[in-house]
Formats: sequence, C-alpha cells, structure tokens
Amino acid sequence: MNKIFSFILLISSLSCLGQNIQWENGNWFNGKGFEKGTFYSTHGILTRKKPAHIDSIADLNGKYVIPPLAEAHHHGIDGEDGLDEKIQTFLHDGVFYVKNPNVIPDLLTPTVRNKINQPQSIDVVFSNGGLTSTGGHPVDLHDMLAKQGVFKRMGPADMENHAYFIIDSREDLEKKWPMIMAGHPDFIKTFLLFSEEFEKRKNQRGFKGLDPEVLKMIVQKAHHYGLRVSTHIETAVDFKNAVAADVDEINHIPIPRKEFSADLSAYVIDEATAREAARKNISVVATVLEGSIRPGRDSNDLRNITANEMHNCRTLYHAGVRLAVGSDGISGFKPMTTVLNSLLYMNKNQFFDALTLLKIATENSAYTIYPKRKIGHLKEGYEANFLILNQDPLGDFNRITDIYLRVKQGKVLF
Ligand SMILES: [Zn+2]
Repeated sequence: MNKIFSFILLISSLSCLGQNIQWENGNWFNGKGFEKGTFYSTHGILTRKKPAHIDSIADLNGKYVIPPLAEAHHHGIDGEDGLDEKIQTFLHDGVFYVKNPNVIPDLLTPTVRNKINQPQSIDVVFSNGGLTSTGGHPVDLHDMLAKQGVFKRMGPADMENHAYFIIDSREDLEKKWPMIMAGHPDFIKTFLLFSEEFEKRKNQRGFKGLDPEVLKMIVQKAHHYGLRVSTHIETAVDFKNAVAADVDEINHIPIPRKEFSADLSAYVIDEATAREAARKNISVVATVLEGSIRPGRDSNDLRNITANEMHNCRTLYHAGVRLAVGSDGISGFKPMTTVLNSLLYMNKNQFFDALTLLKIATENSAYTIYPKRKIGHLKEGYEANFLILNQDPLGDFNRITDIYLRVKQGKVLF
C-alpha cells in the first residue's frame, strides 16, 4: 500500500468511525521531549488505559505528536465576512484556540457563533469592547473605521458602549458595568498607554488609556464577577502599573517608539517587575511580529525593535512569567497572519531554543485562552486535541509547519 493511499484510508476511517481510537507508534510531546508510545482517545479524551472496545487503529509510524498551537491575541474573528476562510487559515496553521481581545459583540451574530466552538472548527473567546478613558485608544481607531463603513450597519455613533467603553471614574464603572456584563464577555480588556503621562495627556486624543487608579477598580470589580482582566500596554511603566493593579494578563510587550522617548530604556521591563508579575501569576502575551510591521520604520528601528522584544521576552521568561504569544492579526489582510508567523519570527531571531518555544506556543498560550480546560498537554484525561508532525520540531522548530494530520476531540480534521 503506498503512502498516499494509506493516508486517505486513515483520514476516511478516523473521521467517520467510532469513538475509541488507538493511536500507536507515536512520539508524544511530554513537556520535556518526545516519548514513544500509544495513547487512546475515547469520546474526545486522551487516555493511556486501553478501552474494552477499539473502533480504529491509527499507526503513527514514528511521527511526532504535539498539542495544537494557540493564538493568544488576534482580532480576525470579528463578524461573518470571510469567516470560513479565516477558520481554515487557523486550522491549516495548526491553531485550534483563539482569543480576541477587542471586538464588537453585535457583529458576532448567530451565524458566527454557530461556526466556532464546534468540534470541527476553532474555539474562540471574546472580550467584547475594551475599557479606556475619554479620547483614549481605541476610540479614534474605531470611529475612523466606522466612518469607512467597515462595521456594516454600525456607524461612528454606534461605537461607544459596543467597540469600547469610556471609564474615567468609579462612577462611570458603576454606571456602565451592567452594560458591559450584558454582552457576556469571556474576559475584560483594558487599555494602558503611556500611563506615566496620564495627567499630561488628559486633554489630548489617542496614545493614552485608563487612569492606572481606575484600572485597579476595574480589576477588583471584574474579579468579583469571576472575570479575568487583560491589559494592553505600551511602555515599561504601563507594564509596572498593570502588575500593580493585579491584572491577570498583560498584552504586548513594550515596543520602542522614538517619537515618545529617544531613550529606549522606557521600553525595557526591569527584572524586579518581571519577578513580581511571576509571583502574581500574571501571564504576558507577546505580540512580537506586529511591532515590526508597523509602517514608518527603517532598518535601524527594526533592529532595535527585535532586540528589545527579545530582551523583554527573555527577562519575563527567566523571571518565571508565563509567556504566551499572539500575532495581533486583524481582518482585511490576505493571507491573514496567525501566531504561526510570530513563532517562526521568534525562532528565526533565536529568542529561545526550540523546546522553550514549543512550550510557549502550545502549553502557555492555550492556558491564557482557556485556563480551566484540560488542553495544552498530551496527558491522561486531557482533550484529545493534537497535531501530528512529520518530523521532530525540537531538531528544527520550523518543522511545526510540516503537519501530517490535525486531530480535535479525537477526530481528524479535513
Ligand atoms: Zn490587539
């Protein structure tokens, strides 16, 4: 039997047949390396215990099995337009879990909801509109996009309390909280930008976010309601303020903007703050590649950005912070970028060795999206979600693009 023929047979048998599958002769990632052996999937769950009845046997022929990739920061799942294609792009890249930290919930129609969080699709969590101050990011961005007609039936006047919420004080928070909760967010997104100059920037628009004192109130409120809080940051002081506010997750790492400070130390996370973030169990989602593709950068800027990203990522990692990765991808680009591109960029620039990068890509990033689900590891009782790679990704991290099969809840995805 030739290879292609057996491949087709394997797919057709495993996607239609029963629930109990024996996955034999695999090299399974155990968090430290690869271990030869057999796992069973029964009703979508992994187990080492052989079920009484086996429906199918899949011979993995020494191929390498890893947990799926997780995209911890992406805005692309934002409505009906091009949705099927976006889902296919994620699955093609091996990404099963996606977090959207700012979206207009009105555009997540029943059609959208029915196409995600299904066994054959990607699983997505949403923050809905983020919380910022008057004139803060992303107010102007959404007003501009709405004027361009990007949001279908929604114009600039519909953006407030949908695409974002303005929270300048405790009063605002109390008044608007019921509205925020009415959208059933999976978590709360907040914005800090250049917060060291919060007072100075009060009367300007853009390049600013919440008052750090208001952020503290939001975190307390959200935690009372069982919701995690993610905070967008720009500078090292924003990072520090987010840690002080006890947020659950920090989005982005400081990216040098010489227009704000020629002294790039404003963008360097110090070790003590990194250790404090680790002590508080705060996750950080680095959106590395996104920093390099902003327009108006010359090659010197790009070198500085990459060096700064790498330095910050290593500081966080060595301090024991749970480091995750997202692409900050958005709709409108073809092909749409995913976290796979960010990971390959980190590998190319040697941020970390292949083992560390693999753990960041699978274990850490999945945790930041679904902290309560048994995913991100190939262990007894965990969901039977995995990628089967043709070659060992620890020998060369780029091999994570060489996917033989994608399996979700014990079933092969086409
Ligand atoms: Zn973003």
